[in-house]
Amino acid sequence: MSAICVYCASGPVDDTFISLAAELGTAIGSGGHTLVSGGGNISMMGAVAEATRAAGGPTVGIIPRALMEREVADLGADELVVTETMRERKRLMDERADGFITMPGGIGTLEELFETWTGGYLGMHDKPVVLLDPFGFYAPLLGWLDDLSGRGFVSRAALDRLLVAESVVTAIQLATHR
Ligand code: AMP
Repeated sequence: MSAICVYCASGPVDDTFISLAAELGTAIGSGGHTLVSGGGNISMMGAVAEATRAAGGPTVGIIPRALMEREVADLGADELVVTETMRERKRLMDERADGFITMPGGIGTLEELFETWTGGYLGMHDKPVVLLDPFGFYAPLLGWLDDLSGRGFVSRAALDRLLVAESVVTAIQLATHR
């Protein structure tokens, strides 16, 4: 059983994305895994946490004190860790996870994705970094990175370090196997 850290949107998004988050949470909980999240109970973040618990999985939320109101701190979390800084939040989320899954999100999500992805590429950790992208949300980004690779800015090895999954089942398989 693994602890899976999930990064995703905290803003108002279409129901399609909320449903994807709920589907992932259900799979994490029913698979006997633990969810590690940013500890908010809004948008996709809230949906993945609620669905994980509904499926019987423990949830660990890690949230900076200053964001508790804005991101609606997930008081239902089995463990809610309140940090004083964003850096501490990220460090604890990284430490507590065996693998990472990123879903669609905004700049906060992108920042988290790139930090865990580059950390893995640089050998700072060996945990799987998975992009769950059933709708082609990230296709423009992946296309741009591919172009950068062709021009020498990004190595093929770095691109290969990111595991892209089109289904929840595949994302969980990839995130739970080193
Ligand atoms: P967003 O993708 O912008 O909706 O944000 C998703 C989550 O990322 C929210 O919980 C934000 O608090 C979080 N976030 C934003 N910036 C950062 C950062 N620099 N490090 C870690 N998490 C962040």
